[in-house]
Amino acid sequence: MSGPDHHPRRLLLDVMLGKLAVYLRICGYDAAYAGDRNIEADEAVRRVADREDRHLISRDRALIAAAADATLLSGLEISDQLAELRAAGFTLEPADPPSRCGRCNGRLRPVPSVESRPTYAPSDEAVPCWRCRRCGQYFWHGSHVDNLARTLAALEDEET
Ligand SMILES: [Zn+2]
Repeated sequence: MSGPDHHPRRLLLDVMLGKLAVYLRICGYDAAYAGDRNIEADEAVRRVADREDRHLISRDRALIAAAADATLLSGLEISDQLAELRAAGFTLEPADPPSRCGRCNGRLRPVPSVESRPTYAPSDEAVPCWRCRRCGQYFWHGSHVDNLARTLAALEDEET
């Protein structure tokens, strides 16, 4: 049932799970978020999951019960939600290199060192940067990745 090759890579996160969606994108998942799509009704969420062949993740028991392929979460805290996903067999570690935009779930491309960068990105060209093909946001190995790595490491401490 579990195992790194078994768990789905294409996900749909229900509303209220926006932060988890960002973390899953950092981990390399194709994680669509219902809040980004402006879908909230159970039926609409299920339809998107079916149409796009996405594994649904939600805290809504009724929604999960009626979905074909889904994981129910109970935790309110992001660390609890990550622990539940890990227990369900999801591999959780920051993707290296990063592949998904945390903001819009678009695909990232490496930024060549000769290419100019916006002022919010590290100016040191030795720091690798990636850019979202969809929304244009720049990413690098920054504090959001460190925060996630720390949260995941804390989970491991709790498990042992
Ligand atoms: Zn993007």
